[in-house]
This record gives sequence, structure tokens and C-alpha cells, in this order.
Amino acid sequence: MQGRPDIFWWRLFQRALLGSACALMLQPVWAGDALVSVSHPLAAEAGALALSQGGDAVDAAAAIQFALNVVEPQSSGIGGGAFFLVYRAATHEVYALDAREVAPAADRADQFGAMNFDQASTRGIAVGVPGTLAGVEALRQRWGKLSLAAALAPAQHYARDGFLITPYLAHALQSPRLEHDPAARALTHGADGKPLQVGQRWRQPALAHAFELIAREGVTAFYRGAIAKAVVAAQQDRQVDAAGAGRMTRDDLAQYQVAWRTPLEYPYRGYRLVTMPPPSSGGVAMFQVLGMLERFHPGQTPGLDLGDPEEVRLTIDAMRLALADRARWMGDAPAGVTIPVTQLLSPAYLKQRSQRLNRHQRLAQATAVDTPEGLHTTHFSVVDHEGNVVCVTTTVEALWGTGILVPEYGFFLNNEMTDFNLRPRASASDPGINDVRPGHRPRSSMMPTLLFHGDRWVGAYGSPGGVSIISTVLEMTQDMLDGGLSAGHAIRRPRFAVMDAEGHTLVEDALPPFLVQTLRQQGDLVEPSPIPLGSVQWVGVDEATGRREGAADPRREGTVLRIPEH
Ligand code: GLU
Repeated sequence: MQGRPDIFWWRLFQRALLGSACALMLQPVWAGDALVSVSHPLAAEAGALALSQGGDAVDAAAAIQFALNVVEPQSSGIGGGAFFLVYRAATHEVYALDAREVAPAADRADQFGAMNFDQASTRGIAVGVPGTLAGVEALRQRWGKLSLAAALAPAQHYARDGFLITPYLAHALQSPRLEHDPAARALTHGADGKPLQVGQRWRQPALAHAFELIAREGVTAFYRGAIAKAVVAAQQDRQVDAAGAGRMTRDDLAQYQVAWRTPLEYPYRGYRLVTMPPPSSGGVAMFQVLGMLERFHPGQTPGLDLGDPEEVRLTIDAMRLALADRARWMGDAPAGVTIPVTQLLSPAYLKQRSQRLNRHQRLAQATAVDTPEGLHTTHFSVVDHEGNVVCVTTTVEALWGTGILVPEYGFFLNNEMTDFNLRPRASASDPGINDVRPGHRPRSSMMPTLLFHGDRWVGAYGSPGGVSIISTVLEMTQDMLDGGLSAGHAIRRPRFAVMDAEGHTLVEDALPPFLVQTLRQQGDLVEPSPIPLGSVQWVGVDEATGRREGAADPRREGTVLRIPEH
């Protein structure tokens, strides 16, 4: 020890830590720590700042969302839509807020004509009326303690003074989606005509100006004022051919409404999972899979491990059956049609579907296939000192949405309308639930999810990734509840994602080759995933210690910040 006082002090510090860890088991002294888990460090800092100023979890969520619009604009922002799940510690209530984009009044089921996804998703006609700002404001009005200006301040600062481009953003800046719209190109490319690079400072003065206006005039500037006018012009005039012009009007923006929905719940292995109901398809699909697999006792079969080919076989085929139901039943149902959620989740139905599964043999057919979706989006989770939780999946759909920038205000417009059926499906035998309908929301896979043990909240998580979200959140849930892994461990496990009822399955490189080979031999349509699958941001409670813990996905620039209670 002599000559190394640093080690001495370190040991003392460790002992003190150990002491407090023991005390922890008797009384949860850390229970009041607040946490944010976000896919970008600067956005995490914005949330932490709100919490350290005495803000509620919803204030932190607002600050994070605005900051993400600046530092991760390829995935979410005020030009897009979001789902928010909120848990209030004092009442034990969960609220589900749907701030998804809606179809303009002039939109029609056949509006995409013969366009494929790539053609449709870069045009004005793919833009839905954005909901994210209305969603943030609805949360703040109900539970917020800080002003809208306070929530916007860090984002304004990042946009005005600039921030250093991280590797994940630099990669996104290479996207061909930024090549079509001259305004988007000018914002994202340097004087040399090349996309901005990692380590360069990126300033977004037009976006800073938008936030200043919103801070001064409130969200009405966006839905009824100068910004509304600019949004309508951008989706009408740019990047269009005759069929591609957006149909959104100022009335559509003025009439935008968030929807408070009844959260969807499912009991599983002594826990309670709570997530988004339709128009998200994610919760119903995940609960169906868990229900179909329960009789196989996942994670408990002697000799079988998680990631074992037999368990993966069952999961893939159960997902295919769930995705077949999703294609037919999930969406924002037209008047007069009820989505049969109760039937789809009934034990009798799931038992019957489950009879088709076999550990050793691939399911021959599951029907119904869907059009592709974006894989980008972003998820973040927050718990404040009082234990209130906000769990958010937020999107502009594809990477950079349509790639159309609102030039005066510096934000990108979503292409969420391509989450509707590109071709109408309604017929005598199919209600066409996800056909484009004015005022309706496109089907989503986004599924911010809360986990409870009895009455106690123990976790908040979710992921981006379009339809792959369902596999990512499902695998997290299986790894934690069937496999007993911590959230941090579960996040690091390699993933696979079932993309449709035919069974097209994306796999990450780190998945054991033996597993991939077995699946291929069984006839699975396995492809290496072009990008890492998902990006899970978790906050929760370590049940052994009572301590709040966060975990963030290393696949992006996930960051957890702890704000100790004082
Ligand atoms: N638009 C997709 C959805 O709502 C999300 C896209 C993504 O995760 O990148 O389900």
C-alpha cells in the first residue's frame, strides 16, 4: 500500500460502496435515483438536466425528444409521430398516449397507385400529419412541472451552437435519401459536396429558429401558425411528380388530435407486461407468441438453452403465425369493424395455433405477407426521483423519413403513410383494416413496454426496427423472464428478427453459425441483417437489490445517466 495512496483510497471507497450495498438490501437507499436511457449521449444529458432541475419524468421525456430531433434527426422529431407509455407512481396507473401521424383528409386507399415502397416513401404523399409535438405537449400539460421553454432549451442550444457528429449519425448521413431534396442536401452536406463527417460540428440554425418560435408561441405555431404553412408547402411542392404530391392541408394540421388509449396487458410468469394497443401491432403479436410458446416451457426444458435451435425454431414459427394475424387484423380499424384483440389473445385460440408448432420441423405455411417498413426510429426510457416512468418509441419511419426537409424550420417530414397497405386490401372477405383512410393512423410495430411484478414497476423498454421491433422486444422479454438474464445482459445478446409470415428472418453476425445453419437446413429464409437489429433502452429495478438500474444498447450510442437523489 505504501507509495500507492490511490489504491488505499480506492479500497476504502470500495469498502464504503460494499457497505452501502449491504444497507441497500435492508432499506433501498438508492430507490430515489432518477435515470434516463437514450440512444444519444447529448439527448440523455438534456433529460438529465430536466430531472436535476426538479422536472417530472415527462419533462425529461420532452427535453429528450427535442434534443433527439437535433442530434438524431434521422430517427425522430417534430415531423414524425410517437407512442408514449406513462406510469404514475402515486396511483399505479399506466397511460398509453398515441401521438402517431394521421392520414390527411384527402388521402385515399389507392393513392400510391403502382408505386413500390422506395418510390412512395420519398414523396410528399407519404407524409402523415405529425403528432410528436402534440404528444409531448399533452404529457407536459397533464404532469409537467417545467415550462415548454425549459424543455426546448438544450435542443435549441445544440441546434444553434452545433454539436460534434458521432459515428452513428455520420453513417446515416451517407444515406441516398438525402440526395433528392435540395434543402436536405444543403443541410447535410459540406461545401465540398460530401456528406458531413464524423467529428465535424453540425449547426442547424433553421431548427433552432423553429424551437424558438415554439418556445415563444407554444405548439400552436406548429399546428396553426407559420410552421404549419411551411409543412404544407414542403410536402406539396418538393420531390414530387404528378402522383407524388402530398395532400395535407392546414386544416389537417389544425385538427390533429392525440389519442389516449387503454394499455394492453398480459400476465406472464408471475409478471405483468403492459404495452401499446392497436394501431400498434407489436403488443398483440408479442403476447400471442408468448402465449403460444408457454406450453413448451421455454428456458426450462432440461438440456435446452436460450438460443437453442429448438427454441428458436418454435419462436420463429410462432412469430410467423402472429404476423399472419397482424397482416389481417392489426391497424386503425374503420368504423363498424372491431379488431378482435380479446379473441386473438384468448387461451383457447393460442392453444389451437400452438398445435401447429413443432420443435424439429419448420411450419410449412403461415399466409399473409406485408410491405416493408423502415428500420430506424428510436426508443428511450426515463424514471424520475418519485418513480414516475415514461417509455417512448418515436419515429419519422424510414431513415430521415421521406428525406423532405421543411427548409425554413430545419426538420424532416415522416413517411409514415407507407405503413398503411400500399395497395388496398378491402374485399368481401377482408376488412382491409390497414388500408389508407383519412383521419386514420397507419399500423405500427412500435411497442414501448412496461414490466410489473405484482404491483411493483420493474422495467421500461422498447426498440426501433419496424416489424423487427416485435422480435427484439420479444427476445428481450424471453431472455429476462424465461432465461432469468438481467436487462443489461439481455440487451447484449445477438438477435434475429422474423420479418413476415413467410418467415423471412434477419440474423445478426454474432448469432452462432451452428444455429443459422440449422435454421437454413430446416428451410428457413435466413439473411444476414444489413444493420444491427434494434436499439433497446431500458430503465428498471434490480429486483435483488431494489436499486434502480439502466441499460442502453451498444448497437447505437446508447447512454444511461443516473441522477442521484439528494
Ligand atoms: N414506422 C415503423 C412503425 O411505426 C417504425 C419504423 C422503425 O422502427 O424504424 O412501426
